[in-house]
Amino acid sequence: MGGLVIFDLDDTLLRTAAATRAARRTVLASLFPGCDAARALAVWRRTTLLYSDQQLTELLRVLAALLGTPLPTGADLDGLAAGYHAEVIDRVTVEPRVVAAARRLRDDGHALAIVSNGDDAVQRAKIERSGLGDLAPAERVVICDGIRIPRKPDPEGLRPLLHDAEGRPGTERRAARAVLVGDRTTDVLTARLAGIPVVRLRTRTADLERGSGLSRTARPDAECSPAGVYQAIRALL
Ligand SMILES: [Mg+2]
Repeated sequence: MGGLVIFDLDDTLLRTAAATRAARRTVLASLFPGCDAARALAVWRRTTLLYSDQQLTELLRVLAALLGTPLPTGADLDGLAAGYHAEVIDRVTVEPRVVAAARRLRDDGHALAIVSNGDDAVQRAKIERSGLGDLAPAERVVICDGIRIPRKPDPEGLRPLLHDAEGRPGTERRAARAVLVGDRTTDVLTARLAGIPVVRLRTRTADLERGSGLSRTARPDAECSPAGVYQAIRALL
C-alpha cells in the first residue's frame, strides 16, 4: 500500500481548544481577578495573531494593555506560563475519530507522521499524556518550535519525511506519495509549499488563527469532518 500520512496535532489528533480555553481562564483569574472573562478571552484569541501561546509572557503584556488593566506588580509571568502549559497538557483529550482513522491507515500499510507547531516539550507531553506515543515512530514526530525547526507554514519540518517517502538513492524509487491533514490555513499553506495534497479538517472549535483571512484563498484538496478523514485520505493517496 505505502504512502505517508502527516497529521497535525492540535485540534486534529487532539481536542485542544477546550483545554486551551480552560487554561486561559485560569491565567485570567490569577492576573485580572473580576475581569469580564468572555471579553478577555475574545481579546486573547485576537492577540494570538501577534503572539502564539508559546510566547505567553509577551502575549500577556499585550493583553494587559488591550484590556486597559496593568499587570500586577511582581507578577510571576514565567510561573503562570508554566502553569498554563501544564493545565493544557492535563486537560487535552484525543479526537477519537481522527485517531481511529490514523490507526486504520497504519493497519492498511501507510506510514504515519506528526508535524506540529509549538514548544517541543509541551507538544511531546501532549502526545504521551494522550496515549499517542505509539502512533508514529520518534523520527517521524516533528515539533516546529520556531528555534530548531521553523514553524509551519514553512515546509522545512516536512522535508526529511518527504525525502524518506520518496525512497533513498540507490533503492527502487517510489512515487512521492504523502498527504497532510490539519485543521488550519497554516496546514493548507504548509502542504502547498511542500508540494503535497492536503485535507482540511472542519472542526466546530476552530479558533482565530494567523492567516485565517486567507482561508478562502488557500483551498485544500479535500475538506471533511473528523468522521470523514479516512475516506478523504484514501481518495488522495
Ligand atoms: Mg491544528
